[in-house]
Amino acid sequence: MPPDPNCLFCNLYREGDHVAAADGFVAIRDINPQADVHLLVIPERHVASFHEIDKFPADEAKRMLEFIAGVAANEGLSDYRVVVNAGAGAGQTVFHLHWHVLGGRSIGRMA
Ligand code: AMP
Ligand code: ZN
Repeated sequence: MPPDPNCLFCNLYREGDHVAAADGFVAIRDINPQADVHLLVIPERHVASFHEIDKFPADEAKRMLEFIAGVAANEGLSDYRVVVNAGAGAGQTVFHLHWHVLGGRSIGRMA
């Protein structure tokens, strides 16, 4: 999917303040952190939500997961949570696929 000029995360992908960047992916700090460390991993490819994960070629999906793990490690996190809110009913508010990486003292068991 091409970039959507009206999409917040398409725009932040291009011009945001990136904690990390790799081919096709960036990480930014969440503007409203829910943990000591709260990063968002955003792929360049615009898909509205995790429901459309099938639009990612297999190698790109694998590299995205590896990027998430690398971002967490670079942030010094050994234990952390990776969350995707898939759909408005699950709390999704920005409709460009993104992964929350949450870590720090406040992270305990959730599920
Ligand atoms: P979700 O609710 O899963 O769609 O997550 C969207 C996340 O984006 C929320 O945690 C927001 O705090 C975060 N967010 C919204 N606008 C910005 C922004 N300009 N920069 C960084 N994070 C943002
Ligand atoms: Zn987008």
